[in-house]
Amino acid sequence: DVTATKGNEFEDYFLKRELLMGIFEAGFERPSPIQEEAIPIALTGRDILARAKNGTGKTAAFVIPTLEKINNKKDRIQALLLVPTRELALQTAQVCKNLGKHLNIQVMVTTGGTTLKDDIMRLGETVHVVVGTPGRILDLASKGVADFSEASTFVMDEADKLLSPEFTPIIDQLISHFPKDRQIMLFSATFPMIVKSFKDKYLVKPYEINLMDELTLRGVTQYYAYVEEKQKVHCLNTLFSKLQINQSIIFCNSTNRVELLAKKITELGYSCFYSHAKMLQSHRNRVFHDFRNGVCRNLVCSDLLTRGIDIQAVNVVINFDFPKNAETYLHRIGRSGRFGHLGLAINLITYEDRFNLYKIERELGTEIQPIPPVIDKSLY
Ligand code: ADP
Ligand code: MG
Repeated sequence: DVTATKGNEFEDYFLKRELLMGIFEAGFERPSPIQEEAIPIALTGRDILARAKNGTGKTAAFVIPTLEKINNKKDRIQALLLVPTRELALQTAQVCKNLGKHLNIQVMVTTGGTTLKDDIMRLGETVHVVVGTPGRILDLASKGVADFSEASTFVMDEADKLLSPEFTPIIDQLISHFPKDRQIMLFSATFPMIVKSFKDKYLVKPYEINLMDELTLRGVTQYYAYVEEKQKVHCLNTLFSKLQINQSIIFCNSTNRVELLAKKITELGYSCFYSHAKMLQSHRNRVFHDFRNGVCRNLVCSDLLTRGIDIQAVNVVINFDFPKNAETYLHRIGRSGRFGHLGLAINLITYEDRFNLYKIERELGTEIQPIPPVIDKSLY
């Protein structure tokens, strides 16, 4: 399934109105892919094991369902958000406070840096959510100062770090202070083996999310232009003169065409690299490396390069040859998840390509529009 977006809205999760207000006031308009995956499942109470790249919105993916499930009339700790460092604890607590600003939920941060006495005082008052680092939390739990016996939500952020050997004995003890039917959610960008043994030991039928390869067409404005095969180079030349290209990638469907086109582009007076499957790997690596470092503005290539490409400086992708299927299209055009990262995709379409265009549009549930005479610079 390569569907780029499920088209969900925060309104679809039936969250408390006050929580929704906090979300919108934080400037979040729509859930990110990890949030779309995690929030509805987390709200059902199921255990979750989630992998997603950095900067994709994992924090809100667990903070939103955690806040939603808190009963603020009940004067008990109901959730623990465990993180590996003090800085991250403060930051995570701040996200709770921002998103939960209209909820009247009490959030406490505790890390190794403060005195135990302060924490004891604080715990004498109402606390609904505790955010902190393992050592201190276990200290509070084992001294009976913090009571987690009714904490039904246990989140581990940067779980790979929290499950490193220095922490595992602490985590094991900590979990024994939680009720049997607690919900455990693990979030991380990487999941080494150690996470697997934790999973087998503690998680009950976890819902596993892996968005490491997730590509999205969100933020990418897609156009097509009808051209005849022999007019393609001319059309490309026009595009080069009209567009404000920061860096561009131009795709051809065969290695021969890659070389030919690169030659033509150079003749037109534009700087250009090329890369294709018949070149030596070491050569390809060098081209890619130099292109990434901005040595050259344009790169012509075949599909070998498409997987995992995420060069922030590329604001225009051109399908000089239209790809054969939706997956290839997505891998050429799709971006992996940062926010506010815009781009332009332009498809040169011959008469023979037209059915393929409709097919790919339908399969990806996306819209590829006819190219307008003037393209708004704010789109890319
Ligand atoms: P991660 O933990 O996956 O590395 P963060 O949770 O730190 O990512 O979020 C990265 C940034 O994205 C933060 O600045 C956050 O405010 C922002 N963000 C998160 N979710 C959304 C959203 N739905 N809409 C807009 N911005 C968001
Ligand atoms: Mg994070």
